[in-house]
Amino acid sequence: EAPSPVSSPSEAPSPAPDQVHPPRRATPRSTRSKATQMLKHPLTELDLDARLDQIAGVDWRLVAGFRRLGVVTIRDLLYHFPRRYDDVSSRRSISELQVGAEETVIGEVTDVRSVGSGSKLRVRVEVSDETGSIEAIFFNQRWIAQQIRVGQMIAVSGKVTVFNGKRQFNSPRWERYTPDPDALLHTGRLVPIHPLTQGLHENQARRLIKQVVDAIAPRVPDHLPPERRAQAHLLSLGEALAQIHFPASPDQLAAARRRLGFDEFLFIQLGVLQRKRLWQQEQGLPFIIDQQVHAELQRLLPFQLTAAQQRAISEIFADLQRPSPMARLLQGDVGSGKTVVAAAALLQAVANGLQGALMAPTEILAEQHARNLKQLLSRVRVPRKATVTDTAERYQQADWRSLLDPDEAAKLAEITQILGMTPDEDMGGQGVRVALLTGSLGTRERRRVLEGIARGEIDLVVGTHALITETVQFHRLGLVVVDEQHRFGVEQRLRLKNKGHNPHMLVMTATPIPRTLTLTIYGDLDVSVLDERPPGRQEIRTRRVGRAERDKVYRHIRKQVAEGRQVYVICPLVEESERVTLPSAEEMYERLQHEVFPDLRVALLHGKLSAREKDEVMRAFRDHQYDILVATAVIEVGIDVPNATTIVIEGAERFGLAQLHQFRGRVGRGSHQSYCILLSDSDNQQSQERLAALEQTTDGFKLAEIDLQLRGPGEFFGTRQSGTPDLKMAQQGDTRLLVEARRLAEAILNDDPELAHPEHELLRQKVDAFWAAAMQAG
Ligand code: ADP
Ligand code: MG
Repeated sequence: EAPSPVSSPSEAPSPAPDQVHPPRRATPRSTRSKATQMLKHPLTELDLDARLDQIAGVDWRLVAGFRRLGVVTIRDLLYHFPRRYDDVSSRRSISELQVGAEETVIGEVTDVRSVGSGSKLRVRVEVSDETGSIEAIFFNQRWIAQQIRVGQMIAVSGKVTVFNGKRQFNSPRWERYTPDPDALLHTGRLVPIHPLTQGLHENQARRLIKQVVDAIAPRVPDHLPPERRAQAHLLSLGEALAQIHFPASPDQLAAARRRLGFDEFLFIQLGVLQRKRLWQQEQGLPFIIDQQVHAELQRLLPFQLTAAQQRAISEIFADLQRPSPMARLLQGDVGSGKTVVAAAALLQAVANGLQGALMAPTEILAEQHARNLKQLLSRVRVPRKATVTDTAERYQQADWRSLLDPDEAAKLAEITQILGMTPDEDMGGQGVRVALLTGSLGTRERRRVLEGIARGEIDLVVGTHALITETVQFHRLGLVVVDEQHRFGVEQRLRLKNKGHNPHMLVMTATPIPRTLTLTIYGDLDVSVLDERPPGRQEIRTRRVGRAERDKVYRHIRKQVAEGRQVYVICPLVEESERVTLPSAEEMYERLQHEVFPDLRVALLHGKLSAREKDEVMRAFRDHQYDILVATAVIEVGIDVPNATTIVIEGAERFGLAQLHQFRGRVGRGSHQSYCILLSDSDNQQSQERLAALEQTTDGFKLAEIDLQLRGPGEFFGTRQSGTPDLKMAQQGDTRLLVEARRLAEAILNDDPELAHPEHELLRQKVDAFWAAAMQAG
C-alpha cells in the first residue's frame, strides 16, 4: 500500500473512511490483553484527565501518533489547537466553480476509473450535480477506487484547476455526504488543520478530535463565572473550545480565539497583579523628599538633567512619599542616563536617615556603579534628620551629629577612612558614605564595612546580589536599586521581606521592552521611561558587511588601535558542525592573535570562564592592557570602556535586534567617533531586514518593536530567560485584548484579592498552574 504523506489531504489507506456519526466502535484488537480492554470507556464517561487510550474504540496508532506530539490526555487534545483553517465553506454548484479558488461541491459520483499504473496511477472520479459535472483526480491512491462508488453522494473540497481546458479537482479533500450539515467534517466548512506528525493521518486525527470535542467540550467547567464572561463579552470555555476546533463561521472562530487568548492574558495579569498587591499591602517607609538636597545634587552635576530624567525622578519621588513600598521599573536605552536618576533617589533615602543598596549582576559592574555614585554624590551635603531606629518615630527634627557619642564618632571616622573619603568629601559627617562590597575587600575591611552597614554608618552599599542573599544586615534599608536584572523582582523581594525589610524598589533595565511585554513580564511594576538621550551624543556608525570584506574590517581595526583606541569582536555561540563557516570565539581569538594581529594585544572572554575570571579579563581590558577583546555574548551589558570605539559582530544574523543594539551600546561612550560593524553572509530575507533596521535606527524601542514583530516574543531576548509565559493563542501584540484582560483581572481582585471565593476556585488553580509552568519554562 502506498503510504500517504502526513500533510496530504488524502485519506490514509486504512482504515477506510466512514460515517462521522455515530462514532465508530472498533473491534477489539486480538493482540490486546483483557486487562487493557477493561480500562476502556465511552467518551461520555471520561473526563478531562483521562488518557486517549482509555477511549473505547480508539485506534492505538492514533494514540501513539498523538503521544509523539505530547498529546496524552483528553485535556491535551482539547488544547491541541489547529495551526490554520482552510476556508472551504463556500459551497457551490458545479457550473459556478471558479478556477483557482478553494471550492466545495456536493454531487453524485457518476464515474470512477483507474488510469495508468505504477507511479503514474491515477483514479478519476466524476462528480455531477444538476448544473454539470467535474472530475476529481487522485494520484497514487489506488484505494480511492474501492472507497468511492458510483451512485454515492460525496462532498469534494479543494482548489479548482484546469487541465486540457477542463476544470478539475486535484487530490481534493472528500467525504461521503450526509445531509446533516453539522456532520461535514473534512469539507464544506472552515476545515481545521491540526499539527500532525509521522503516522498521524489528517482525517483520522480530525475525526477523533471531533468526537472528543463533541463529547467533552460541553462538559468542560468554565473557570470564569458567567457574570465575568458577560462583563468582557466572552464565549463560555466549552463553546470556545468547540469553535476553535470546528468553527461554524469566521465570526465564531474569532470569538473563540478571543476567549482563549483572553484567558492567557488574564492568567498572566492575575498573577502579576496579585504579586503587586502582595508587595504594596506591606507597610513601607514613606520618605519626606528633601528638595534642598535634590537641588544641591542638580547644582553639582556637570550637566543638566534631561526632561525625561526629570519626569522619571518626579514619578519616583511621588512613589517614595507613599506609605506602600515603591515597585517601579526604570526603562532607558543604553546611555540614556539611568544612573543619575537612581542616584537622586538613593540620595533621598540618605536624607531620610535610611540606607540604600544598589545591585548589579557582576562585580565589575558593581565597581563601575560605585565609582559613578561616588563621583555624582561626592560633594552633596546631606543634613541627616531621622535619628531613631524605630521607624514609627522617624523624622524627629534633631541634628544627626549632635546625637553621636564620642565612641560612635570615632567609629564613623574609621569608616570614612576605609571608604577613602577626604575631609572635603566627608564635610563634617554630611557627605554620602558609599561602600563597595565585593570580593576584592580584605577580610578586616570587609568585617568593618559589614559592621558599618549594620550600624547605619554606611549610607549606600553597592554590590552584586550577594548583598541580599548573604548575611549582610542593614540598619534601616529604605531603597533598593537593581540594575540590569530581568526577572529580578519576585524572588529577591521575598528575600528582603524575609529579612524584615520593606524597602522601596527600583528596577533598571536598558533592554527596551515594548509595552505589551512590559505589562506581561513586569506587570507588577509601575514604569518610568527615559525616552530621550542626553544632548551632544555622536551617532555610532553602523555598517553591515559581507565576510568577503573582512580584510577591510581588519584594516579599520588596525587604524583604530594605531590611534590608541580599543576594539570588541563578538562571536556567536556555534555548534561543532557549523565550525566550517563560522569561527568560535576561541578560534577567532587564535586567528586574530597569531595570524592577523600578532603585534597587538588580544584578550579572550568566553562563557566557560568563572565570574571572577571574566571580571579579571574585563578589568584588564578596561585598564587598556589589551587592544582587542574577543568575546561571546557573555560580554556585560552596561560595561563602560570609553576608549573602546569599534565593535565587530561576527555572524550578526544570529543575534536578536535588541541584543545587537545592546552590543552596539558598548561603544560610543567616550568622545571619539565610534563604529559598529555587522558581519553577515546570510542571504535570508528576514535576517537582512533585521540588520538593515539596525543600520537605519539607533532607537532601541523602535528596534525592539521590529524584533518582536519579526521574531515573536519567545526569541525576543535571545534566550528564554525573560520569563515570558508561553502564549499559544493570544497575540503578543494584541494590546487591546491585553488591556481588557488586565481590567477584568483588576475587577476580580478588587472583589476577591486572594481568589478565595468558591466561584474563583477553578480560576485560582488555573492561574497557579499557568505560573508554575511559566516559571519552569523561564
Ligand atoms: P545608562 O542609562 O546606560 O546607565 P548612564 O547613567 O551610564 O547611562 O549615563 C551615560 C553617560 O551619560 C554618563 O557618562 C553620564 O554621566 C552621562 N549623562 C547622564 N545624564 C546626562 C545628561 N542629562 N546630560 C549629559 N550627560 C548625561
Ligand atoms: Mg547603566
